[in-house]
Amino acid sequence: MIADKNPIQPLIAGNWKMHGRRADGAALAAELVRQARRSGRAELRCELVICPPATLLTALADIVADSPVRLGAQDCHHLPSGAHTGDISAAMLADAGCRYVIVGHSERRTQHGESDDRVRAKAEAAHAAGLIAIVCLGETEAQRAGGEALAVVERQFRASLPVATAAANTVVAYEPVWAIGTGKVPTTAEIAAVHAQLRTLARERVASGERLRLLYGGSVKPGNAAEILALANVNGALVGGASLDAGDFWAIARSCP
Ligand code: PEP
Repeated sequence: MIADKNPIQPLIAGNWKMHGRRADGAALAAELVRQARRSGRAELRCELVICPPATLLTALADIVADSPVRLGAQDCHHLPSGAHTGDISAAMLADAGCRYVIVGHSERRTQHGESDDRVRAKAEAAHAAGLIAIVCLGETEAQRAGGEALAVVERQFRASLPVATAAANTVVAYEPVWAIGTGKVPTTAEIAAVHAQLRTLARERVASGERLRLLYGGSVKPGNAAEILALANVNGALVGGASLDAGDFWAIARSCP
């Protein structure tokens, strides 16, 4: 199932998670900006997004300004403001220079008990603030072993995406929980099957669903990126560990068809 032609500009997003201080975060962002500015469209065929910890957003906004590298956050609160100690609203992220925000990452779903309803509310908040929501979903290892992967992904897709979802305001990232940070990767046939289902759901339920970007995430590395990114209905990748190394992240970005 290799795509002959991909009319959707791929997106490669780096999720730095809880890694990075001012000096190394700035150096990593600056190196990506340098590479991106140096390369032409023939080399950089994707949109490149970095999602650093919230403490680095404003500093990195200055570094990536007027460059091909975009800024994203790793989470937002579902409300615009209020008494929510420690939380950050989507409008604040937009104000800090973000264009994207990840919502529903499995680490948020499991470590912070976020339900599909809460993820949907966060995506709605992102849209209200003018941000593009990267909505994550994916099955656990037990669900995959039990043959439930497609059913779980369909349920999460239906429940986690706002009614107003469109290709312009949302990206969906399929991230099997068991592949995140483990070095385990589904077979290309397994990825292709989930992404084919996501495309069918997108066509049915999402405005301009044919163009909704569908990312794969889970142990993407320079060595496997080209094969994964060439699959039909895979329009980019959400990258964790490998996004912390400029050379690896750049190599993944360059693997886009
Ligand atoms: C992630 O955290 O979204 C992720 C995909 O991590 P990794 O690439 O390290 O598996």
